Amino acid sequence: MTYDRSNIFARILRGELPCNRVYENDHAVAFHDINPLAPIHILVIPKGEYVSMDDFSREASPEKIAGLFRAVGEVARQVGLSADGYRFLANTGAHANQEVPHFHVHIFGGAQLGGMLKKIQTG
Ligand code: 5GP
Repeated sequence: MTYDRSNIFARILRGELPCNRVYENDHAVAFHDINPLAPIHILVIPKGEYVSMDDFSREASPEKIAGLFRAVGEVARQVGLSADGYRFLANTGAHANQEVPHFHVHIFGGAQLGGMLKKIQTG
């Protein structure tokens, strides 16, 4: 899948759209989700052009991959989630309803999050 430079996170990275930024390192930026699904809901995105986890895990350098994962942990500590815990996930592709085609990790926390997923009925 070709990277679409007009996607919303690309525009945030270029400074064309505002975001509520909480963390940045050389390889990643983190900001609050505009439509939070938990008391704390933060998105962590790489600074390069990667469509999804599939693309990122295939194409990104070890430094970029480490930078992104380091950012997830740093952000969680910074906003006080590491003591009680949190969840992180990355919707990838159509079956996961990925809406924004720039790789992003969601961090959810600030409350008991319940079970991992509702069981999916397969027929
Ligand atoms: P996805 O479904 O692709 O995993 O998640 C996309 C996320 O991006 C959603 O949780 C949505 O609320 C969030 N989002 C969409 N547009 C914006 C925006 O302009 N700013 C911010 N901060 N979050 C956004």
